[in-house]
Amino acid sequence: MHPSKKLLTIASAAVLGMALSLPAYAQTNSESLGPAFANLEQKADTQESDSVLSKTTYTKGKSLGIFTTSGYCACSSCSGTNTLTYSGTVPQADHTISADLTVLPLGTKVFIGDIVYTVEDMGSGVDGNLIDIFYATHEDAWNHGLQEQEVFLAE
Ligand SMILES: [Zn+2]
Repeated sequence: MHPSKKLLTIASAAVLGMALSLPAYAQTNSESLGPAFANLEQKADTQESDSVLSKTTYTKGKSLGIFTTSGYCACSSCSGTNTLTYSGTVPQADHTISADLTVLPLGTKVFIGDIVYTVEDMGSGVDGNLIDIFYATHEDAWNHGLQEQEVFLAE
């Protein structure tokens, strides 16, 4: 369980959320799927290995509606003492998202922009149509700000 600090992060991002027009950091972070990704494969279903090739192996399915997206990282202010996701995986940029599990159950794969993310995490401040996107650095998470994005099922 994540501490309520995440809620503070989201609130802070709302106050300073002026990065609405920034493009996704998809391309610049793709190299970060390095050694840690091997750990991910051991802990998750074998289908997780598809995520690296998500752009070619998944197609956009039905719209799940408009979600408010925010960013978080592995730092103590975003994730407290948690080093693994709620589902026990190593969080990965361009892969891991935190969601309200009653809205998007663990393992759900969704398109946000052109990236396929997998619901691997949850947080006390992540409720309803809110998705927290994992970033490799706090700066990237901060730069995400708060965005209104249409989310599609990946299939
Ligand atoms: Zn952080």
